[in-house]
Amino acid sequence: MKKSLSSRFCSTGLLAYFLSLGLLSPLLAQPMTYDLPKSKYGLPVVNDVKIYKKIVTADPDNELVDMRQILPDAQFDVTYADTTNFLKRKLYPTADVFMRKPAAMAIRQASENLKKQGFGLLLFDGYRPYAITVLFYEEHGDTTFVADPRKGSKHNRGMAIDLSLFDLKTGKRLSMPSGYDESTPRAYHNYMDSDSASLAHRAILRSAMEKVGFAIFPWEWWHYDFKGWESCFTYDLSHETIRQANKTLSKAKAK
Ligand SMILES: [Zn+2]
Repeated sequence: MKKSLSSRFCSTGLLAYFLSLGLLSPLLAQPMTYDLPKSKYGLPVVNDVKIYKKIVTADPDNELVDMRQILPDAQFDVTYADTTNFLKRKLYPTADVFMRKPAAMAIRQASENLKKQGFGLLLFDGYRPYAITVLFYEEHGDTTFVADPRKGSKHNRGMAIDLSLFDLKTGKRLSMPSGYDESTPRAYHNYMDSDSASLAHRAILRSAMEKVGFAIFPWEWWHYDFKGWESCFTYDLSHETIRQANKTLSKAKAK
């Protein structure tokens, strides 16, 4: 969960920020302003469904999409929705994996490519509500192993995914050098003291993800960040709230 983030705004977010300051409004005939509320750590967050609908309507790429719909053949093991995570308690009410749309489409492409090699994707976590990041921080008290709530994490932007591979023929998970969310050197990409099959599986996943625009996180073989994460809003809405909002938005679009 170690994350270091350097920027808190996206291109859209940055524009919204300047608009909120009234700096660019004279340049635009009808400026759309986003009055983003700030978290108690000072980070502007999309924590209101009305704002979510507004930013998705303005730019459909801002939608957080349900990966079960994007990848019907994938496997899911959302440990934050049960007690098998590192905090050993249920943190998500629903076992959902959502991603910001362009990242979701890239994962679908990776999945298509992997299918040809006989592999499927096993998803652990994607978009993580900002409140969960705050909870991690407040329970740990430092940012060595958890994201800084003043910056938020790439997961909060729907731009990071935790995933692994399974064998399409048997449905069995492929071995990896460590367990998911294991905070030991075995989780590092440069850890080579593992069996050759596990090292090969890690390399296959890496190659598939890098090909579609994701970057590794050196300390967690399962975590990948999508390019352009800096240009995204930080969301703090439950998966269920997002699901309902998406339904309303697609109905409105169909009309
Ligand atoms: Zn992660």
